[in-house]
Amino acid sequence: MKRLLVALVLFLAAPVAAEEIEIKGEVAQGGFAIVRAEPGTRAIFEGREMRISADGRFPIAFGRDAGRNATLELIFPDGRRVRRALDVKPRKFDIQRIDGLPEAMVTPDPVLLERIRAENARIAEARRIDGAEPFYLQGFVWPATGRISGIYGSQRILNGQARQPHYGIDIAVPTGTPVVAVADAVVTFADPDIYFTGGTLILDHGSGVSSTYSHLSRIDVTVGQRVRQGEAVAASGATGRATGPHLDWRLNLFDIRIDPILVLPPLPAASR
Ligand SMILES: [Zn+2]
Repeated sequence: MKRLLVALVLFLAAPVAAEEIEIKGEVAQGGFAIVRAEPGTRAIFEGREMRISADGRFPIAFGRDAGRNATLELIFPDGRRVRRALDVKPRKFDIQRIDGLPEAMVTPDPVLLERIRAENARIAEARRIDGAEPFYLQGFVWPATGRISGIYGSQRILNGQARQPHYGIDIAVPTGTPVVAVADAVVTFADPDIYFTGGTLILDHGSGVSSTYSHLSRIDVTVGQRVRQGEAVAASGATGRATGPHLDWRLNLFDIRIDPILVLPPLPAASR
């Protein structure tokens, strides 16, 4: 699989001198990066004030369909206020067209829509949490290892109707395989029966960074629990609308969906 290298990028554009901030990560569609500024700086990314760690770091991210420019405003401790336009690198994503499907498979049963909306609202609420502890600064480990059966960004067009792109990474593992916390976290959502995603777990990694595990056969943690990176938190399965056993794992910055492959280390060779 093609991997984009995570690079240290120093932006030289005016008006902020290059040494005043450092951006480590991918300024690209689906990308995630950590910005470092002087401690005590305030940062407003795309209109949202970001929580900054004691050592001056905060996360930024860019959705699959992010435009070419993103705005970062910084207010330094000495009161200087500067605005930076970030040049977001575009990417290409797969589009798969499938025609001739029975309509019932394409458009969900209307009686289910209320349930789906209510579940989506609860998930969105968990993703709005702006946790105080910057666990995301640890970096991330694989939640499970196995064959990659689905990637971020691909979109299906069913009978000419665009469906939501796929925002997770799918890892094909048998039902019952332990899955681990990708970084230290607080559990913010745990439900064994969500319509689309089945057994669903959301971990808060701080400052709006959350990750979501779907299609779980078992959840071993409860909301409010503190978990450690690498700790088993659940078991994979095929619950919800899954075609077979796998783990779907996603990473968000609030409602911005990040490409997991850009933040994970290279997959261990034994599991490729
Ligand atoms: Zn998936």
